[in-house]
Amino acid sequence: MPADAIVDRYRRPMRNLRISVTDRCNLRCRYCMPEAEYVWLPRRDLLTFEEVSTLTDVFMSLGVDKVRLTGGEPLLRRELPELVSMLSRKPGLRDLAMTTNGVLLADHVEALRAAGLGRVTVSLDTLRADRSRSLSQRNSHAAVLEGIASVAPAGFTGTKIDTVAMRGVNDDELADLIEFGRTVPAEVRFIEYMDVGGATNWSKDLVLSRAEMLSRLTDHYGPITPLADTGAAPADRFALPDGSTFGIVSSTTQPFCATCDRSRLTADGMWFRCLYAVEGTNLRDPLRDGASFEELRALITGRWEAREDRGAVDRLAERDRMPFIPVATLKANPHLEMHTRGG
Ligand code: SAM
Ligand code: SF4
Ligand code: SF4
Repeated sequence: MPADAIVDRYRRPMRNLRISVTDRCNLRCRYCMPEAEYVWLPRRDLLTFEEVSTLTDVFMSLGVDKVRLTGGEPLLRRELPELVSMLSRKPGLRDLAMTTNGVLLADHVEALRAAGLGRVTVSLDTLRADRSRSLSQRNSHAAVLEGIASVAPAGFTGTKIDTVAMRGVNDDELADLIEFGRTVPAEVRFIEYMDVGGATNWSKDLVLSRAEMLSRLTDHYGPITPLADTGAAPADRFALPDGSTFGIVSSTTQPFCATCDRSRLTADGMWFRCLYAVEGTNLRDPLRDGASFEELRALITGRWEAREDRGAVDRLAERDRMPFIPVATLKANPHLEMHTRGG
């Protein structure tokens, strides 16, 4: 960590930066992009790779040492390996990862590895093609499985599979997904369905809680052991009786805001300090207007030091919880969408 690493009002450092490289996606997962139409970011506003690299340098000078490329679907961004190569050369970047839906992964995996990408997380909610079609509203399941199969042969280790676990949708596949993960090999992380912007069909009845997941998996496998706290990592990890592991991200029922060290940069340079934040900071305009490294640093420092966000904890306190943001508001401000700010 740099000597002048910054902390927010709750003394949380800024270590983890998620960079959304595009708001476009080739799937329409019902928990993320359920609507028929979307308002897209204007192309002229998208940060160039040089701009992303410059901002990353500023963030790194203040404590960021982990970067995750995301979207939208990051592999829809042309020449992504070029950006990977610019970022992977930065001394001090401990971890460079990407979250993808896997559809285009097999085509790009070699180039990404050669460019220095460290780890890959692939989202996979079901092993059943018919379910995948209905959940993602696209016919891409075979391509996703091919993408997942391509990761280990390309030389990646530490691969993860992210599954949004939903009641009545895929809750009968928890053990099947863990078994599939062993074959990849990849650690499966079950994510509770969150009422983030974009999740306009969210209802608490569809949330499969961490407690229920553990109960079902205990019924299937026998006693499950919690593993030691991983600090700011969102997933709590558990071991099955045979020692193999899986994770649960319980953002909805047991949020981990108290240790949250992550923030998000959208493809057009808006910086959000919480997944639930309704306001972000425009870093693109100062950058394009010629702000110096020190000026950008001061801007980011001021905002982070004022950070009080605990979005998921605040949501938990709400009674009669409904989807977070109405569709009309999302259409008027696409920055509020999960697929824009990067999951
Ligand atoms: N398109 C890529 C993908 O799906 O992996 C990257 C972006 S996507 C927004 C990142 C992650 O957010 C995915 O693992 C997805 O499952 C998760 N996600 C999206 N909407 C969610 C929701 N309402 N609740 C929980 N997780 C969600
Ligand atoms: Fe699904 Fe990811 Fe696309 Fe959202 S951004 S619709 S989670 S593939
Ligand atoms: Fe961090 Fe906000 Fe998520 Fe809480 S809700 S863990 S503060 S991003």
